[in-house]
Amino acid sequence: MKIITHSAEETVAVGIKIGKLLRSGDVIAFSGGLGAGKTTITRGLVLGTGLPDETSSPTFSIVNEYAGNGTVFYHFDMYRISGVSDLETTGFYDYLESGGIIAVEWSENISDELPEGAIYINIRSLGGDAREITVTGDERFEAFSD
Ligand code: ADP
Ligand code: MG
Repeated sequence: MKIITHSAEETVAVGIKIGKLLRSGDVIAFSGGLGAGKTTITRGLVLGTGLPDETSSPTFSIVNEYAGNGTVFYHFDMYRISGVSDLETTGFYDYLESGGIIAVEWSENISDELPEGAIYINIRSLGGDAREITVTGDERFEAFSD
């Protein structure tokens, strides 16, 4: 599905809709450049899964963890990660087996290591505050669009 938003708030709202459909073990692979809105939409994903709103950019910690009422959400930023040994040090492979929900910013950097069945979300700036959000890889998200 493809949707165009015109503000950060609208993007969070799209994230909430997606987040409500997420389940244990889902891996969300973001692509899109700096300032596209990956961290912003992740706020929505976290909220949609029913977790408290505390999402900040994980750029300086590689992975942030949000947990509550049986759900665990791991938010990675792979901006500085390249190669498998780098990735191993983040614990990514262990997190994949944890059953938690995983969202990965800069998934371009680990594209060969993304699991089968990953949900791909590309965010593209259309200029100003307009963003095109494209979700592929899972039929669950075909139902809603603009
Ligand atoms: P990224 O994580 O992709 O680098 P961020 O989510 O941190 O990007 O930042 C996106 C920036 O763009 C924020 O300052 C946000 O307020 C702004 N913004 C403007 N319009 C939008 C939109 N339609 N969707 C998402 N963010 C937007
Ligand atoms: Mg970010």
